Amino acid sequence: MVVEPKVKGFLCVTAHPEGCAANVREQIEYVKGKGPIKNGAKSVLVIGSSTGYGLASRIVSAFGCGASTVGVFFERPADAAKGRPASAGWYNTAEFTKQAEAAGLYAANINGDAFSDEIKRQAIDAIRKSPAGKVDLVVYSLASPRRTDPKTGEVYKSVLKTIGEEREDKSLDTDKGQIVTVKVPVASEKEIADTVKVMGGEDWELWIKSLDEAGVLAEGCTSVAYSYIGPELTYPIYRSGTIGMAKKNLEEAAQRIDGALKMHRGKAFISVNKALVTQASSAIPVVPLYISILYKIMKEKGVHEDCIMQIERLFSTQLYNDNCLEFDDNGLVRIDDLELRPDIQKAVEAVWPEVSTENLNELTDFDGYKSEFMKLFGFGVKGIDYTKDSTL
Ligand code: NAD
Repeated sequence: MVVEPKVKGFLCVTAHPEGCAANVREQIEYVKGKGPIKNGAKSVLVIGSSTGYGLASRIVSAFGCGASTVGVFFERPADAAKGRPASAGWYNTAEFTKQAEAAGLYAANINGDAFSDEIKRQAIDAIRKSPAGKVDLVVYSLASPRRTDPKTGEVYKSVLKTIGEEREDKSLDTDKGQIVTVKVPVASEKEIADTVKVMGGEDWELWIKSLDEAGVLAEGCTSVAYSYIGPELTYPIYRSGTIGMAKKNLEEAAQRIDGALKMHRGKAFISVNKALVTQASSAIPVVPLYISILYKIMKEKGVHEDCIMQIERLFSTQLYNDNCLEFDDNGLVRIDDLELRPDIQKAVEAVWPEVSTENLNELTDFDGYKSEFMKLFGFGVKGIDYTKDSTL
């Protein structure tokens, strides 16, 4: 059948199989073009491996380092009878696996709830079956709106709210291409705690504990989780909001995991990454407007990067290639350095009060935002004939 985009708010409920596959191949080509990463990872577990930063981490591990990979993700297969395509991450993973196997690389996939004990057990089994039988890198790249506690069965939901006082902020209605004012509501204590439970560090710690107890952590094993800080402009909704609280909790967990991995002569750290269009970030109010402005400025200055460029840089200039990790004063690795460069943020701040529905296309890269968003679902990809039938 011919697959067409069906956008509903900040989600596209269809995905194009060949378009997603082409996106994955493009990322692989980028990594190959950068050349092999010396002394890189050999065996990698990526939790949240099917889209965004996690997919990029899996691609750099496999095609930059030549590593075996186990990927954990939560994706929907196609329902051919109902004519419903699979989710983008499903198609991304299918193509990744095809390419990895063609390159002679072990690639095991676990589709299910990463917060559950069962999926942790399945991942451990897949690691045991891998050539090394252990992992030397664990990437934690989950972005989820809810979590079921594996011990109590209680379901926690994360919210995108501010803490303290209600805020009004400028935002972008990406469907209508209109600048709007959004009310960012105040979170209750429970909502803050629940968001921390979902997006904080508890589950990352549980993963490392399970892997350790199963004896599948190699000597020198490293673990990294991804965080975001961003500019003051987005603090009310991000850094000083509920999601920021969860990220601070994740950052604290990194210190405890670092202590645990020291027993294996390993380490854990947080990489603070750049704001990019992903399925997770498009759901956050204010952020799509900020990203549209940021992209224009970073592209003009020739310093724009996407997920694969960010993660390739993290691996080749910080993690491996005989380099050492460089930490900021708070012990965080910063590959958001270009985004937060003072000249770039000054330019964003100058545009922010000026931008309106009328000058949106002139002052921002909203076109770039929209095409990146569609590309997440395999649409608008060069070389794909969208009039042709696809096999779901
Ligand atoms: P994304 O939505 O593209 O990817 C999320 C991944 O998590 C997918 O592979 C999905 O299948 C998986 N997942 C979600 N729920 C799951 C579950 N219950 N069980 C198993 N897998 C599940 O998100 P992203 O933007 O790449 O975010 C990844 C991490 O990077 C997050 O921690 C995010 O905060 C961080 N980060 C994102 C940005 C950004 O701008 N996008 C910037 C800095 C840091």
